[in-house]
Amino acid sequence: RLLLDSVPRAEERIAVGASLRAALEIWQARPGEIFTALDPEGTAWRVRYGLADAGPFLVPFEQLPQSPESPLRIDLYQALPERERFELVLEKATELGVGRIVPFESCRSITLEQRDARQKKSHRWPHVLLRAARQCRRAELPCLTAVTGWDQVLYQAHQADLALLLYEKECGWRLGEILRDERPRRVALIIGPEGGFTPEEVEEARQLGIVPVSLGPRLLRTETAAMAAIAAVQARLGD
Ligand code: SAM
Repeated sequence: RLLLDSVPRAEERIAVGASLRAALEIWQARPGEIFTALDPEGTAWRVRYGLADAGPFLVPFEQLPQSPESPLRIDLYQALPERERFELVLEKATELGVGRIVPFESCRSITLEQRDARQKKSHRWPHVLLRAARQCRRAELPCLTAVTGWDQVLYQAHQADLALLLYEKECGWRLGEILRDERPRRVALIIGPEGGFTPEEVEEARQLGIVPVSLGPRLLRTETAAMAAIAAVQARLGD
């Protein structure tokens, strides 16, 4: 997150302290580039990054009418898909405002090793995320974790206020229905691989209180399911 220490005045030159400097490094800031930063009151500013003899500085030049960061925290757990589909998920999930993206291997998913053996692209993932976050003017870079296993997904996801496993088969709940009565602050969305979840995986999730939900009668591609689920949750509960 790019966080200013105090509420700025437009066009004032703000010296960049250690924590902001570290954040700007993560954003790979170069002099002249423009970013979104939040002040302590949560107001979002467009700021220009500059470098002078005295050190780096920011100049806020425009106050945004609304923060680009959603009040709802969404963690996306995405089974590793084939080819460039994961890059697409990274880009669109970032645009749609997720806070954390956890790629995982499941029973029917490809493994990272298999993916990398065909076309080693995983080193590009942080770059895809960064480009998407800059493009949609976010002030926070979503956290992208290392590829994890199914047990970790279950363990982490069930700690959210509302954890949903997206399931294309008849499972009792439509996503829209379950969102109607919920007011969670943190939502976990778990999306399966091209081959889907096994019945055992769905049952394991259910036992931990993770709710299988459907997006309707059409079988969506895994990346479409991720985007549709995030958009629906954000529209109903977030911003
Ligand atoms: N074979 C296609 C592909 O190559 O992507 C579709 C695979 S679908 C089994 C992949 C995942 O998307 C599922 O595990 C599920 O998480 C999600 N999904 C797809 N359609 C869905 C629907 N109608 N409702 C809920 N989730 C869905």
